[in-house]
Amino acid sequence: MAELEGLEFGKSDFVLLDEVTMEQFMENLKLRFEKGRIYTYIGEVVVSVNPYQQMDIYGKETIDAYRGRELYENPPHLYAVSDAAYKAMKRRAKDTCIVISGESGAGKTEASKYIMQYIAAITNPSQRKEVESVKNVLLKSNCVLEAFGNAKTNRNDNSSRFGKYMDINFNFNGDPTGGHINNYLLEKVRRGVGRMMEGLRLQTGDRPQKNKGVISATAVSLSTSNNDRSSHKAVMSALEVIGFTKEEINSIYQILASILLLGNMQFESDGESVQIQGLEAVNQISELTDTEPDSVSKTLLYRTVATGGGEVIEKGHTEQEACFGRDAFAKALYERLFGWIVSRINSVIEVKDYNPVLHGKNTVIGVLDIYGFEIFDNNSFEQFCINYCNEKLQQLFIELILRQEQGEYQREGITWQHIDYFNNQIIVDLVEQSHKGIISILDEACLTVGKVTDTVCLDSMDTKLAQHPHYTSRKLSPADKTMDFQKDFLVYTLTHFLMTPLSLPFAPFLSRSANPVLKEMWPDGHLSITEVTKRPLTAATLFKNSIVALVDKLACKEPYYVRCIKPNEVKSPVLFDDARCEHQVAYLGLMENVMVRRAGFAYRQPYARFLQRYKMTCEYTWPNHLMASDREAVEAIVTQHGFQDDVAYGHTKLFVRTPRSLFTLEQERAAL
Ligand code: ATP
Ligand code: MG
Repeated sequence: MAELEGLEFGKSDFVLLDEVTMEQFMENLKLRFEKGRIYTYIGEVVVSVNPYQQMDIYGKETIDAYRGRELYENPPHLYAVSDAAYKAMKRRAKDTCIVISGESGAGKTEASKYIMQYIAAITNPSQRKEVESVKNVLLKSNCVLEAFGNAKTNRNDNSSRFGKYMDINFNFNGDPTGGHINNYLLEKVRRGVGRMMEGLRLQTGDRPQKNKGVISATAVSLSTSNNDRSSHKAVMSALEVIGFTKEEINSIYQILASILLLGNMQFESDGESVQIQGLEAVNQISELTDTEPDSVSKTLLYRTVATGGGEVIEKGHTEQEACFGRDAFAKALYERLFGWIVSRINSVIEVKDYNPVLHGKNTVIGVLDIYGFEIFDNNSFEQFCINYCNEKLQQLFIELILRQEQGEYQREGITWQHIDYFNNQIIVDLVEQSHKGIISILDEACLTVGKVTDTVCLDSMDTKLAQHPHYTSRKLSPADKTMDFQKDFLVYTLTHFLMTPLSLPFAPFLSRSANPVLKEMWPDGHLSITEVTKRPLTAATLFKNSIVALVDKLACKEPYYVRCIKPNEVKSPVLFDDARCEHQVAYLGLMENVMVRRAGFAYRQPYARFLQRYKMTCEYTWPNHLMASDREAVEAIVTQHGFQDDVAYGHTKLFVRTPRSLFTLEQERAAL
């Protein structure tokens, strides 16, 4: 069993700080990071600092030490919360979820992988074949999603360009039977490229194709760099394990190659009409997508518009429109491909033929790996979406933590005290309220895009939101339109907020493709242009809807939290950048979390556990007590140390209001 840590490593739970001040919080966090203790609790919440080095704390021995144990029996670890979530699920038949948040590079995805590995390691002790295969597919799905959805950014070499929520289903034995993945793509995904694509880009960039033939999947795989080749192999094998057919894998590569070709495509204009430079790419794309070359070039050079009279006419693009259309085409291909891969994985891991009467209740552990608050010098629509999502999650966090506390007090028969906290509903409303929220104002503006400019839209917000305490706006110059909102008045630049509803000029011809994967990717391709443009959902509304659905999913589960912190900007294992860390602690709301936790009974322990740890500090309990119950023995310890006013006795646990009492005990214990 892993040894409990001594006090030289700082306090393993922030609740035990002498005073809840930012200064003390940061001092403890830094001390622990410097001593290689990357995890610290706030009650049951794990605060994790990215170590930026391989830690020897994830092996089989550690897994065994945490399996089936209580949180306080071992040093803080992801495994402890994973086990707590698993125990709640198995023993109390509760659906649980583990919410991992933090900024880019803070270690969310790594944490989610350790959590999955832990759950995989502790389940199916009898090694049943079908369960092993489910586990294998669940683990391999990570590798595939990372390959297509991650990219190197200046903040993280392996940055997830999507938020991921994964449900793992369990049978009454507590063994995984399947799962479901939801992805929350960001605008930057459409703009950026996956890791897989970076590998491919090397090929087209470094080595122009000599043969005029189509880029085939094999050509692509042969010309990637060494590093990419091994990861490419892993992805291929993962795709096969999951059950993608050879044809499907080939289609995936063909679509990726098309996206690359689009990326390199240029246009030229003779002043009258616009042409594609070098028609070879058009032929290649048409071959790769199994469509007519004519329809490819038509899609790139023309758009169909519905006139007022319901007529449909074709209009030639300007060069700028053609570039915009080309990018939209590439983005849409990428986004749909990613969506298709996710749903294909889902069709494999979905729980089939589950009969609750025969098999008992099907319970779930959800794991959410999602981008945390982003605050930059220049914040755009993307930060707006991310931060809105985090406000929603923060709201849920506070609500659920309070609810969980309340549930525990009720179970233990202890009177519940009301706790005041900052309710960020007002900010959530500012964004999402119908008719007068920011998203609905954006929606309205987007419907008439072309006519409504950013400035008009900002005026409309100014009128509708003038009275809102969390909204102000300023127009600095025509090019610099900003609006401010959020707790500390975060500034967003409104340019690009007004995104045209995604029109899909390429959908009809792609849905006629002879390639079954492409066909499946565009089930809506048969819709006519008038149907598509009637009242399309805007990017903001689509995002909002997906986040509302996510919050609903989480709200009915018992939550566990991992809050990740990035110690520095330079990926160093030894540097703790105080200002950067403090900033993250602040916007993750960790201080509030400690306060909520301490406002009630900050600390609680099962009687037996408390006794085991502190029995040596009391003459009546050392080495063994002769009392009728552990509870009475605990009462003896508490009374001897004189903090009976600081505790409450639950049915199975001792509740301690302030950490000071425990701190005294800890000191006494250490002095013995
Ligand atoms: P993004 O939001 O950009 O996806 P993220 O929070 O998911 O970021 P990760 O990809 O999990 O960040 O972590 C970034 C890098 O930090 C990893 O590639 C790894 O090098 C390092 N890292 C994170 N957690 C750990 C850990 N527990 N042990 C060792 N290295 C880690
Ligand atoms: Mg990630």
